[in-house]
Amino acid sequence: MPKSEKSKISKGVNQKLKKEIERVFNLQLQNSAIVSQTTSAERIAKLKLLNQKLFETREQLCTALFEDFQKNPAETEVTELYPVVSEIRHAIKNLKKWMKPVKVKTPISLLGSSARIQYQPKGVVAIISPWNYPVNLTLGPLVSAIAAGNCVIIKPSEMTPSSSKYMRELITGIFPENEVAIFEGDAAVSTEILSKPFHHIFYTGNPAVGKIVMTAAARNLTSVTLELGGKSPVVIDESADIGEAAKKISWAKFVNCGQTCIAPDYILVHDSLRHDFLALLKKGIAEKYGNTDEEIKKSKNLSRIINSRHFLRLTNLLNSAIKAGANIEYGGVTDAKSNYISPTILTEVPLNSSIMQEEIFGPLFPVITFSDLPEAIDYINSGEKPLAAYFYGKNKENIRRFIQKTSSGGVCINDSMIHFSNLNLPFGGINNSGLGNGHGIFGFKAFSHERAILRQHLKKPFLQMLYPPYTPFARKLIDLTVKYF
Ligand code: NAD
Repeated sequence: MPKSEKSKISKGVNQKLKKEIERVFNLQLQNSAIVSQTTSAERIAKLKLLNQKLFETREQLCTALFEDFQKNPAETEVTELYPVVSEIRHAIKNLKKWMKPVKVKTPISLLGSSARIQYQPKGVVAIISPWNYPVNLTLGPLVSAIAAGNCVIIKPSEMTPSSSKYMRELITGIFPENEVAIFEGDAAVSTEILSKPFHHIFYTGNPAVGKIVMTAAARNLTSVTLELGGKSPVVIDESADIGEAAKKISWAKFVNCGQTCIAPDYILVHDSLRHDFLALLKKGIAEKYGNTDEEIKKSKNLSRIINSRHFLRLTNLLNSAIKAGANIEYGGVTDAKSNYISPTILTEVPLNSSIMQEEIFGPLFPVITFSDLPEAIDYINSGEKPLAAYFYGKNKENIRRFIQKTSSGGVCINDSMIHFSNLNLPFGGINNSGLGNGHGIFGFKAFSHERAILRQHLKKPFLQMLYPPYTPFARKLIDLTVKYF
């Protein structure tokens, strides 16, 4: 997301809302002493209730997403409901194990003591979420926060009002406000929430606001998880099965109309495959959305751009790319009235055009060619570290090189985006694409303090021999300890 996309903070929240946030925050502070002591069984009961209510309100969930994005209900089930209920199931299955203290080894110098790591809830945490997968990216972290034994204040995005309303009704129907509360509103509400001394802030959104969140957190020395974005590249190696690649990439790029943090942002294809790959990519789009411009526009499978501001941002990116010399290879149909942009493939895109400089976050797809892998790797490494990086190819040496020589939050080889669904993997970015991880045990840990606990069992442990006064004997022991233990 470009810096100009930074949401403007309106005048601030009114006094009533300010007091309300303060009141609920204080209630949660008091209650966190109780919530933090809950057992795995008690936390699992809460997660089961959340799961049950999600299934009971499945239809309302789909309606909300349709109102916000014109999103197909089947896509809502795959990309909004499934990630949350699978996160719940995974937490229910593993929570008892996650909560157990972890015994660690003792070095010889500390012989006679034992040590363990105990996971303690951080306390009262904030979850600030974006619009692109409004339910998935709000309730997913909520599952981890509840599993870890926290009280939670949620601030969903103002850009998806129907989804936010759905979540408010869901949350207030399950949890008392001193445990989980939700405040709807824009950046001003977010700013007010960020002024409170939370014990952790889990923010998902663009990197520019990520910096604002981290600055606000620093004032209270609050820890943060920042789930940000970036330009996630796809490399089509000379050794790739381009039919399979095109099928997978045309899904990953255009699901949610390209408004996905880990969507392939642009393609680097080996120049020997350019022609055939482009034909297959177009075929992949046609199979999913229709054969003609008209069919694609009428397709019930394609979501819309979230609002006119983002529509304008994307059409500006498209127009300036064309002005700079890019060629519309496919699509390029836009309709401001319905915030519609068709799946669009661009070729001959100048690398210094803005579409190659900022995260696209929409259905515009630049395809660039390269002649040898180091060239593609150098290009990727010349930009900010992305949230994901994708490689299609069978050549093992090239796969190894790609993994070893690039840096990104996550990597998928011969597929795109599905690493998000493996809850045994951490999900997060690096530097400009994020800080910290969510999902499974990594989400549980994000909302927990790893407390170091050492217990001394000896009255006179060895280390006492190293105390002053530093006699020749003590000096000898110190020397041996430094050298060998
Ligand atoms: P957004 O505009 O909805 O903003 C996210 C949240 O930040 C909202 O709740 C919003 O109210 C709040 N906010 C906005 N401006 C603020 C400010 N000045 N101060 C405090 N809070 C503020 O969503 P977005 O940022 O447009 O989301 C899209 C971006 O998020 C993309 O860059 C995408 O890659 C990234 N993203 C990352 C992930 C991930 O898991 N890493 C997931 C989804 C989206």
